[in-house]
Amino acid sequence: MSSPDASTGRVLVADPGQLAAAVVHRVLREAGYDVTVVGDAGAALQALRAEPPDVLLTAWRLPGIADAGGLCRLIRAEPALAALPVIVLTANRETETVVAALEAGADDHVAKPFVPQELVARVNAAMRVVRLERERAAALMELRAGESAYRVIAMEQASLRRVAATVASARTPEEVFSLVAREVAALLGCEGGGVARFEPDGTATLVGAHSSDASFVSWVGMPLNLKEHWVTADVLRTGAPARVDDYGDHGAGVRRSSVAAPVRVAGRLWGTVGAVSTRPEGLPAGTETRLGSFAELVSLAIANAQTRHEIAEMALRDPLTGLHNRRAFEEQLARRVAHAHRHDANLAMVIIDIDHFKRVNDTHGHQVGDMVLIELAHRLARVCREEEPVARLGGEEFVWLLPDTDAATALHAAERARAAVAAEPFPEVGEVTISAGVTDLRCGADALGLYRLADLALYAAKAEGRNRVEVWREAPAGDPA
Ligand code: GH3
Ligand code: MG
Ligand code: MG
Repeated sequence: MSSPDASTGRVLVADPGQLAAAVVHRVLREAGYDVTVVGDAGAALQALRAEPPDVLLTAWRLPGIADAGGLCRLIRAEPALAALPVIVLTANRETETVVAALEAGADDHVAKPFVPQELVARVNAAMRVVRLERERAAALMELRAGESAYRVIAMEQASLRRVAATVASARTPEEVFSLVAREVAALLGCEGGGVARFEPDGTATLVGAHSSDASFVSWVGMPLNLKEHWVTADVLRTGAPARVDDYGDHGAGVRRSSVAAPVRVAGRLWGTVGAVSTRPEGLPAGTETRLGSFAELVSLAIANAQTRHEIAEMALRDPLTGLHNRRAFEEQLARRVAHAHRHDANLAMVIIDIDHFKRVNDTHGHQVGDMVLIELAHRLARVCREEEPVARLGGEEFVWLLPDTDAATALHAAERARAAVAAEPFPEVGEVTISAGVTDLRCGADALGLYRLADLALYAAKAEGRNRVEVWREAPAGDPA
């Protein structure tokens, strides 16, 4: 299994399963790696400290520690091991395990049972990053003789560790981008730094910025005008690092010169990292080369931040309708209730349930039933405002929160949703109706109370004949069994 770019390097494998470990050992040996196998967390730590490998491959379940997440956290806390690439072998494809592994500081994961080529490809990718870092250190040493080169490398490595730590602590991509912008500015001694993402329509968006000039930072989230940002346009055109030494009148007072380098994610040109300078003497020679190799290393962090964000997002979505699921909703509900209490504001809840949905399934089959759920989610999304969370609670039940809204106003909104569903037939099924129950925080008092009273109102709507909205305005007297 040796390929031209194969593969020398040391891999430490931590796996308590002797058979599994033997298979991993053989696959990686055949790929050209020097492999050591240990069976528990203690032995893994000992081996890591005695002679750090190039890559650690660890099973999720490991004797001596709760899970590989715990091992990752220990490793990331030790400066000598903080940058070690860690790949976790998960026993299943469960999103939650993958998220937990990435959140704990793992760089990648492979699901068991694995395909040998995939395992080797993952290890090769991790090894490539290690090699890049070393080549870059060597190149810098040549570029700048003596002590200053060490200083530059130390600075860059510290900077990369900070970026990696931010990614590992599961901050949002926005936080990672703004940190990268700050690090780039500091490394290059520039006044400002930025991260831009290329969009599919050929434009670019500023996704992270750092500058003492607040007006520059306020552009985060906005499209960049590529006619003015020559340097970003250059990178988009050539895929290579670029610099502009004098913007002249186009600098608008905030930049005289700038430099940018490409960020690639999964082989695709993702965007740029860059820096701007207002100083008349401009940027030193070789700045774009230096930034170019830093950008390559930072690409992995950006890719990880993006993937982690997407995976974490996925865990919060109902796969059928794409709406938030109950877990995501409960987090939002707790936040909104706390916010309303703090600001003495109201909050309305609407619980929606499809009428006689069992009949739809019985008559047309489960798949058509699923299509009804999807279509309903679309119609609800059209009626709800952006700041109003809507989620699928489970089955054919949906929930909708209206901040700063009382039950009477929410009743009108829920009525609009009911009408939007009943007005137009659903494909294949024809008429579908919903019932809804409405209440607000003045009656419900807290999250549980909201659920309980909205449910009671829904029950009343069903009892009154369905295709109706009922509201619960008072606190219930006694326990309404
Ligand atoms: P009611 O008007 O009283 O709400 O009657 P109903 O038939 O809608 O209520 P019931 O709770 O008896 O039935 C709900 C049905 O929803 C039963 C279940 O098969 C169906 N269901 C739950 N989840 C799904 C799903 O994901 N897809 C499909 N197709 N059906 C689902
Ligand atoms: Mg139901
Ligand atoms: Mg129902």
